[in-house]
Amino acid sequence: MQTIGRFAPSPSGRMHLGNVLCALLAFLSARQQNGQFLLRIEDLDAMRCPRSFADLIMDDLRWLGLDWDGEVPYQSERSDIYAHYEAILREKGLLYPCFCSRAALHAASAPHLSDGRVIYAGTCRDLTPKQVAEKRKTRVPATRVRVPDTVVRFTDAVWGDYEENLAQECGDFIVRRSDGVFAYQLAVVVDDALTGVNEVVRGADLISSTPRQIWLYRQFGFTPPRFAHLPLLCDHDGRRLSKRDEDLDLGLLRQRFSPEQVIGALACAAGLIDRPEPVAARELVLSFDWAKVPRHDLYLPDIFR
Ligand code: GLU
Repeated sequence: MQTIGRFAPSPSGRMHLGNVLCALLAFLSARQQNGQFLLRIEDLDAMRCPRSFADLIMDDLRWLGLDWDGEVPYQSERSDIYAHYEAILREKGLLYPCFCSRAALHAASAPHLSDGRVIYAGTCRDLTPKQVAEKRKTRVPATRVRVPDTVVRFTDAVWGDYEENLAQECGDFIVRRSDGVFAYQLAVVVDDALTGVNEVVRGADLISSTPRQIWLYRQFGFTPPRFAHLPLLCDHDGRRLSKRDEDLDLGLLRQRFSPEQVIGALACAAGLIDRPEPVAARELVLSFDWAKVPRHDLYLPDIFR
């Protein structure tokens, strides 16, 4: 079966080096297998994701030499499709309205996980129809999906075997916010499945989302893709890079470096080449191998200091 990989940025800002690393490895893995490489704009939260940023991301990807195949879907235009899949979950009796405020969620005595996530305490899980009708008078609910007490396992191309008990380590999760915006967890599964994506490459910060996504794939009768979660890029103090590191966004980097310098430095940080010498992305395709990518956090190459 042909490999179909993808890069799915959220355009809430300009790409930073962590995003570029992710795009590069997703591109190299797909191209090395003679596969397709798709681009999707994850602008579910359209207020925070203006078109101008999506345009800049595409311009930056072209500048980096990371070309993609086919049309670019925008999640903000696909609500009808997500609603169809939400209805499938509803028909299975898996959804319920949740009236909890953010403050209530954090105050509930539910366990907090090491990554800061809170397991939903189940406050709205078993409301009677009468209680729901009463609460609807004062508050618009979010929609939550009921997860079973089941372990979901997968083998990650970088991290090896990974498993999570959905009820104990994840909890019922939101599929649609109270403002009507669909949640990333639902949209990403529907979009990857409908576009035939069978290889998902993304940052390790998303690995804890993967078990619930695999479970959603199964609810819809889709086959889950292969996953590769990349180690995160850290600065020299061991701090993970984020969108706040504006000095490392592509706007400024493009003024200081050539695309080959950026690609070469990141490829070296990711273990793909021995020295951070300038190289075009397409020149790394043939020798790409997941076995070279380390499991530990990656250090920001010196040229970006
Ligand atoms: N849109 C997500 C982000 O930019 C990535 C989602 C994914 O690759 O599954 O963080």
